[in-house]
Amino acid sequence: MTNPTFDRLRTRLAELHDLRSATALLYWDQQTIMPPAGAAGRAEQIATLSRMTHELFVADETGRLLEELRGYEESLDPESFEASLVRVTRRDYEKAVRVPAELRAEMSRAGSQGVQVWTKARSASDFEAFLPALEHNLDLRLRYVDCFEPAEEPYDVLLDDYEEGMKTAEVRRIFDELKQELVPLIAASEGRGVDPLQGAFDVDAQRALSLEVLELFGHRPDAWRLDPTVHPFASGGGMDDIRVTTHYEPGDLDSLFATMHEYGHGLYEHQIGRELDRSPLASGVSLGLHESQSRMWENLVGRSLPFWRLFYPRLQERFPSELGSMELETFYRAVNQVQPSLIRIHADEVTYNMHIILRFELEQEIIGGRIALRDLPDEWNRRMWEYLGIEVPDDAHGVLQDVHWSGGSMGYFPTYTLGNVMSVQIWERLREDLTDLDEQLERGEFAPLREWLGEHLHRHGRKYTPAETLAKVVGGPIETGPYLRYLRDKHGVPAA
Ligand code: ZN
Repeated sequence: MTNPTFDRLRTRLAELHDLRSATALLYWDQQTIMPPAGAAGRAEQIATLSRMTHELFVADETGRLLEELRGYEESLDPESFEASLVRVTRRDYEKAVRVPAELRAEMSRAGSQGVQVWTKARSASDFEAFLPALEHNLDLRLRYVDCFEPAEEPYDVLLDDYEEGMKTAEVRRIFDELKQELVPLIAASEGRGVDPLQGAFDVDAQRALSLEVLELFGHRPDAWRLDPTVHPFASGGGMDDIRVTTHYEPGDLDSLFATMHEYGHGLYEHQIGRELDRSPLASGVSLGLHESQSRMWENLVGRSLPFWRLFYPRLQERFPSELGSMELETFYRAVNQVQPSLIRIHADEVTYNMHIILRFELEQEIIGGRIALRDLPDEWNRRMWEYLGIEVPDDAHGVLQDVHWSGGSMGYFPTYTLGNVMSVQIWERLREDLTDLDEQLERGEFAPLREWLGEHLHRHGRKYTPAETLAKVVGGPIETGPYLRYLRDKHGVPAA
């Protein structure tokens, strides 16, 4: 039975989806092939489209349609497409209309100016120069928090934008559990290192290998593409237009792992249920669950022994002088090296989490007003020493290394580690069904893994909340047990 009011809402949301997809393509273009001089014009185009998208969404008409649909929604099965669409749209709408247009505009202006200031401040390693922009961003974030019902903790409001429904207290509990195990595990792995992979890896060969990885993992060539960029990301124009990017450096093979990571993001978007297309349900449910997918392909598949038993000969063939005489075992240890380092985005899978925990803890202090922003570098450096035994030489390699705070994003960082934790929960669960997964990976059979993820996770899109989605996949809430077991088994020091 059709409902004309629902159809009007559906059409409106489809148009909003089109606007968002077009904005994403402009962004992809900017980060890959746009001539640099196009930047000023592109900033205007993206700002205009974003403003139009927002205005169309928060318009009174959206609210009116949602109001009229209350009875209809109640008459439906809550799991139906129609009921889910109304429910999720209502939640998004109620959040969006709480924030006055002027504040939203000011936040986006301050964010893009902040990124510009930060870019200069970072290259000069000058925290003082960045401080006013950071103060302004923080002030706006606090005003943003005030737009909402008081939460248990103000940080809950910020977190909710990235990991809906997640509470600060829960993140704190999870991170404390991790910290307790990771700090000693990292200390114990000290001095057990092998030489990191270094050499001259021809960039064309790296590109060919990245394409081979995509082909092996499985993708439809008519729906995917791969391009080089500075900071890898996955984006695109919809579920049949998946664009992954990677970054090639001749001195290492990070491009391969970036490709695997972005493949995981791309596959999630690609396998969302077709019936959800052109609606707000047609995307991954949260940053944390998205990251669980990218980390799974990068670390659980891409840094596993079964995968390299399959793929290492191909790598040796491409780089005979670099890898021809290196044993598989040595290579495997080199790409799984645990080694504390300064920069988050280059960190290994174990120490990475300590970079995140540090940022999360500092964000708590900042939002709670317990630390003066001026003291941030000292506090950063102190914790880097305490958690990783690393001395920070300058702010460019310390507090200024990430773009997030300059753009106004606070509450974003925790999702990376939540993704790590969930990735292994999902991995343990899927291994119960795919009992010979290791053998499959070694034979290059990735379809069963892909299909399992599509069936149990990807197809739901945003139909359920992140916690509901995770529960559908693993049967319960987020927990650290599987992840810690995995890290101990892989990186722990064997008992003497
Ligand atoms: Zn990612």
